Amino acid sequence: MQSTTLLILGGGPGGYVAAIRAGQLGIPTVLVEGANVGGTCLNIGCIPSKALIHAAQEFHQLAQFAGGSPLGIHAPSATIDIARAVAWKDGIVGRLTGGVAALLKKNGVQLVKGWARVIDGKTVEVLPSVKQEGQPLRIACEHLLLATGSQPVELPFMPFGGSVLSSTEALSPAHLPKSLAVVGAGYIGLELGMAYRKLGVQVAIIEAQDRILPTYDADLSKPVLMALKKLGVTLHLSSRVLGMDQADRVLRVQDPEGKETALPVEQALIAVGRRPRTEGLESLMLDMDGPAVRIDEQCRTSMHNVWAIGDLTGEPMLAHRAMAQGEMVAEVISGKRRRYSPVAIAAVCFTDPEIVSAGLAPQDAVQAGLDCISAVFPFSANGRAMTLESTDGFVRVVARRDNHLIVGWQAVGRGVSELSAAFAQSLEMGARLEDVAGTIHAHPSLGEAVQEAALRALGQALHI
Ligand SMILES: Cc1cc2nc3c(=O)[nH]c(=O)nc-3n(C[C@H](O)[C@H](O)[C@H](O)COP(=O)(O)OP(=O)(O)OC[C@H]3O[C@@H](n4cnc5c(N)ncnc54)[C@H](O)[C@@H]3O)c2cc1C
Repeated sequence: MQSTTLLILGGGPGGYVAAIRAGQLGIPTVLVEGANVGGTCLNIGCIPSKALIHAAQEFHQLAQFAGGSPLGIHAPSATIDIARAVAWKDGIVGRLTGGVAALLKKNGVQLVKGWARVIDGKTVEVLPSVKQEGQPLRIACEHLLLATGSQPVELPFMPFGGSVLSSTEALSPAHLPKSLAVVGAGYIGLELGMAYRKLGVQVAIIEAQDRILPTYDADLSKPVLMALKKLGVTLHLSSRVLGMDQADRVLRVQDPEGKETALPVEQALIAVGRRPRTEGLESLMLDMDGPAVRIDEQCRTSMHNVWAIGDLTGEPMLAHRAMAQGEMVAEVISGKRRRYSPVAIAAVCFTDPEIVSAGLAPQDAVQAGLDCISAVFPFSANGRAMTLESTDGFVRVVARRDNHLIVGWQAVGRGVSELSAAFAQSLEMGARLEDVAGTIHAHPSLGEAVQEAALRALGQALHI
């Protein structure tokens, strides 16, 4: 039996960041990871999806130049070697996961490869196989940090396998299918669906609700809807998938009137959500919030010295939330006084156009009983957006009417993911409209739309 002060289960962005910080703080730390360090985020999530989206965008852009362009560019024909694109993506993943392994080592964290099964709050068995077979290694600890993440939700009548894909398989295509049905119009489905369409695949999206991106407000999702239509993606809203006949390559879909139609597709990507990964943790019998482990503002679970972070603890399932929680837990264990209470966590949807939302949207503010003003600045009035040929979209600010405290930012447009830093900083620092309006923003930049939205909320917009 080995023993340590801190034992972390799961080496995703939550677990590995907690381990690095704990190592920096001198806490003896063991990190157990069954697959690869970096977790979902670096291996099969955030990074590979953004790499594929970039490759698809570059190919699409070149293909568009085949018929000439207003910029005077003509590129007769574009082809893509998808195996090479996937290898390039894998190279980025390898560099990042290798970097994480090096950081763990540098900070004195012991990495144990294997699948953990919790015996009790202070003892864990690590087995070489995910099926929990083989010779176990026992590790005892003072603090146990659960960071086992999440996994894709499977449709019981359409299990993953063959031509039914999860996002993991869709991120490493051996070949590009002629047609792909994407089940679920949340951010993962739309990001990958758009990328596949840009790679030349016929894409149909099936969504049970009556609009795409149901968790974002309609003003933000509208430009994405228009972009999907322009790309030629077929949308089946208020529709349900009934099953797939893999031999005949037919997806059965029920339309809003209840009529069943057969959609010919080569592959189906199921992107209907993710659920916390609790296998191996059952013996702890922790208090739960639905499928997620319940935590308090210091990420403590219902058991003394057992902590939980990241996707395992439910929404928002975002890498930067997991990292922030992991860093904080390490500091609390080291004796620092910390709690996890962000004003806002920015969420980005890497569609084309991109969406970013931080804090309250106007309707959230109404629901919260706040009297707010909101103002929009369109990219059609922003010089930088024109030079990037992307004038669709806008920046919106929401602020309290009485003291002008900014409570929310939203934006939609090409490249707006980079505005998320400015949004999150202004919210965390308690900025007022006057602070942002009075900050000199570089010209020409998309950031000027941020300043102009604040100016407009004050009735002082200059460029509209
Ligand atoms: C396609 C896709 C795109 C995404 N894009 C974004 C994005 O752009 N931005 C963003 O913020 N988020 C994105 N996410 C979500 C993001 O990946 C997760 O929120 C994040 O990875 C959660 O981190 P985590 O540390 O909680 O868990 P994970 O990253 O899931 O890591 C958990 C780790 O624990 C390991 N593990 C599980 N059980 C055991 C066990 N019993 N023993 C040992 N090891 C175990 C797993 O192998 C895994 O490596 C995306 C997800 C997907 C699928």
